[in-house]
Amino acid sequence: MKLHFIGTGAIDASQRSACTLFNDNILIDVPNGIVKTIKAMGINILDIRTILITHLHGDHFFDLPFYMIEKYNSGDTRETKIYCPTGAEEKIRQLFDLGFPDFYNEVKDKTNINFYEIGKIKGEEIMENVYLTSLFVNHGRLKPVHGYIITSDNASVSFTGDSSFSDSIVELIDNSDVSVLDCSLPYVGNEMHMGLDDIVRLCQRYNDKMLIPTHMQDDTRELALMRPINNLFVPNDGDIVEIIENRIKVKKNINLLR
Ligand SMILES: [Zn+2]
Repeated sequence: MKLHFIGTGAIDASQRSACTLFNDNILIDVPNGIVKTIKAMGINILDIRTILITHLHGDHFFDLPFYMIEKYNSGDTRETKIYCPTGAEEKIRQLFDLGFPDFYNEVKDKTNINFYEIGKIKGEEIMENVYLTSLFVNHGRLKPVHGYIITSDNASVSFTGDSSFSDSIVELIDNSDVSVLDCSLPYVGNEMHMGLDDIVRLCQRYNDKMLIPTHMQDDTRELALMRPINNLFVPNDGDIVEIIENRIKVKKNINLLR
């Protein structure tokens, strides 16, 4: 199982907005500016044709129109599947209306991009030998907000998206080997986000699982790097990790090639 941390920062962090690429072919969230970043890393973004959107805040989906336009311009008609919360397609249509008026329908018609506005699903096959579970997490007033579990080759990784601590977080961690967790805040969490205190507590509770904080503010990252915890891996933008038997075995960084 391979995770490429394209972005690991909170909305106001110096590192990029949170975005992870799973096994080179499933992108979790499409935040502001990430399409150009992925291209600058030397990755063919058109080969990424499965996208999961955790929720409809701008730092998680605002670059989707740019992905769609990239695909339209290329003439690539292979299907792209976007798994997302209810209301996502309408928001994308509104973004087009603001930024690229009278263009959405043509792009939609010619690109074979399909939105799957899922709710709760359990272990649905989304590509060969890859299964998706979706559940709801708590993120202030915004609803719905998804957490996901991807299972492939008998190993699972969960993604909380943005979330406060709740039973859903426990469910996500319980049902995966490795978890990528919202860790925006340097100390305690609030009704929007978890904090480093939550993550440290979870590391102690789940000492046989690897926990990976993301969506970090700069001070959160500094504090997390100072914690000597075996099952806490603090990623930087561009880190690529192979996860074998719940442990991170290989790590390299291909942040920006140019
Ligand atoms: Zn959010």
